[in-house]
Amino acid sequence: MENNVLKEVFATDVFHDEVMQEYLPKKVYSTFKEIVENGGELDISIANVISHAMKEWAVERGATHYTHWFQPMTGITAEKHDSFLNASSTSRAILEFSGKELIKGEPDASSFPSGGLRATFEARGYTAWDITSPAFLREDAAGVTLCIPTAFCSYTGEALDKKTPLLRSMAALSRQATRTANLFGYTDVGKVNCSVGPEQEYFLVNRENFLKRDDLIYSGRTLFGAMPPKGQELDDHYFGSIREKIASYMKELNIELWKLGILAKTQHNEVAPAQHEMAPIYSTANIAADHNQLVMETMKKVARRHGLECLLHEKPFAGVNGSGKHNNWSIVTDTGINLLNPGKEPHNNLMFLYVLSAVIKAVNDYAPLLRLSASNVGNDHRLGANEAPPAIISVFLGEQLEDIVDQIIENGEATSSIKGERMDIGVATVPHFRKDATDRNRTSPFAFTGNKFEFRMVASSMSISDSNTVLNSIVADTLEKMNKEIEGKSAKEFEDAVKKVIRETLKDNKKVIFNGNGYADEWVAEAEKRNLPNVRTMVDATKYFTDKSVIEMFERQSVYNEAELRSREEINYETYSKVLHIEALTMIEMAAKLYIPSIIRFCTFLADSINSVKATGINAATHVQENLLTKCSSLLADAQKALDELKVKTEKSNEVGEGSPLAEYYKDVIREAMNNLRSPIDELEMLVDKSFWPVPTYGDLLFEV
Ligand code: ADP
Ligand code: MG
Repeated sequence: MENNVLKEVFATDVFHDEVMQEYLPKKVYSTFKEIVENGGELDISIANVISHAMKEWAVERGATHYTHWFQPMTGITAEKHDSFLNASSTSRAILEFSGKELIKGEPDASSFPSGGLRATFEARGYTAWDITSPAFLREDAAGVTLCIPTAFCSYTGEALDKKTPLLRSMAALSRQATRTANLFGYTDVGKVNCSVGPEQEYFLVNRENFLKRDDLIYSGRTLFGAMPPKGQELDDHYFGSIREKIASYMKELNIELWKLGILAKTQHNEVAPAQHEMAPIYSTANIAADHNQLVMETMKKVARRHGLECLLHEKPFAGVNGSGKHNNWSIVTDTGINLLNPGKEPHNNLMFLYVLSAVIKAVNDYAPLLRLSASNVGNDHRLGANEAPPAIISVFLGEQLEDIVDQIIENGEATSSIKGERMDIGVATVPHFRKDATDRNRTSPFAFTGNKFEFRMVASSMSISDSNTVLNSIVADTLEKMNKEIEGKSAKEFEDAVKKVIRETLKDNKKVIFNGNGYADEWVAEAEKRNLPNVRTMVDATKYFTDKSVIEMFERQSVYNEAELRSREEINYETYSKVLHIEALTMIEMAAKLYIPSIIRFCTFLADSINSVKATGINAATHVQENLLTKCSSLLADAQKALDELKVKTEKSNEVGEGSPLAEYYKDVIREAMNNLRSPIDELEMLVDKSFWPVPTYGDLLFEV
């Protein structure tokens, strides 16, 4: 029944709560559940029962293998498959999966970046079952595999992945926010979770076209390409009706995601041609991060089945909007209170104002760290490039909350809240409704949107773990400081103490609040006046990993130790240099082997035409061909010169050392050389006969889907 597909397929590939109740003895189920919710040691006898149940369930669904699914510091996922086969019989297959195999794995995996945390001679690395994220099945050409979400750490216990720090940060936030809720009289609160809903943007292009572009294949973005006559200026793609081919892609994507229990909810066309978005319903940060990885993988996999290629790069095309991820984030108690819900009368909601000021202070104090958490090479083309949020971190609160903040700073407390008015659009048949007290702001990197914050800087291809790890940690740390100020007060003193902390916090951190247009040039100047950091590139941001205040904060919250931070700093520099190196080599190859030979052929064609016309003896004009030939030859010479320079400079990178100096070299020297090569070739693209042009153009890529 096609119209019930959602009901039929949802979570069928997940070893979720209901399945567990069905497959596990009651006692085992309740013990396991208790540990998931409140922590504790998982006994091997319990693990044995669970692993057996998991295997039974998986094998019934065709699984032959299991894998510990983990998220190394590359930011994507990794796995190593083992079959369930047991060696005790050579005549028939005995399938087994022990508790030990479920709990712990030891993939060799020594080639993943570890930033010095793991020398290869002591390369033991372990994967450990994350019991808070359900196991699932994945079907592909290799068959059906039972995937166990795991954390990945070194022999000495250091986190080698993106999941471990996220889990630690969730615990830190829970500790401090629980303390806050308890102090405010909600003594039944025992735990606080953070909820995350990541909106994922992506591009779809024809796979045939994709395969003709080495730049897309090797670097995920176009390194050359002139703008087509039409870009996104008409805004006719944004929320436009979805074309058949894309619609059928989205349909299959949804089904695949639903099977994995991913709450795929919203889909629409985005601003740029060929750009789309999918948003799931929010879930606990850790699960949201796992799911987002699966979303990205599934988007790519399904695209290929439809003759498409899914581009998750932050900036696949110059001149049209890039892709990001809007990370919606809120804090919710185990009793169901969203600490970021202002309620009907925010001015009277002291706990909300307290948490709100903590978030504002955290963002202000650690702005560069947040910027760093959203940094990858691709995002450098986006942040600050007049489309996505600027590279400057500021907080948007909206009219209602800004008014309250002003009242508090001026008078010590707020006595009123601006209300949403009834909306009348002048059409009698349209029901009237109450409009929100606060309008939206689309240009802010960190915007309050009703009952959550939306961090909009996150890169489209990146794991959301880094950003949420930072958000949770800095808010936990700030709450810890503030909690100390209001602890141990009598009931009478408490309210005054709270109001004092809120006022002082808001006063000291007001500069980070900005409700205007974040894309305007005036904002850059204004931000500078306010002394807000404007960290323009990933390389500039990377040093904040080991900023003294950052190390201390993460250590206080037990999220990262210094060695873990140093390793991440090293990996960042290394990744930056490597990615740019690949891009430079790709440009060199495309220019030398595709563009320049094609342009020479076109020039020859022009020269032949001039000669042929002249040879007829008719006195016909050849100035069109001559002008074109002159222009093309001159640009061709520019291109060759820029190519030679890029080659020399790329080779010179050997002499620069490694780490930060090498990354700086790529940022300053190689990027410029790359731009110098791109520009004459893009100009030539507008002059050269299309039948001579060796690769699909922007027009082909963006409009031929
Ligand atoms: P918007 O229109 O503000 O972008 P949506 O309702 O479309 O808001 O939600 C965008 C994303 O935010 C979705 O993934 C949604 O599930 C998520 N979201 C909604 N409420 C919350 C919340 N309280 N905490 C975290 N994420 C949330
Ligand atoms: Mg949104």
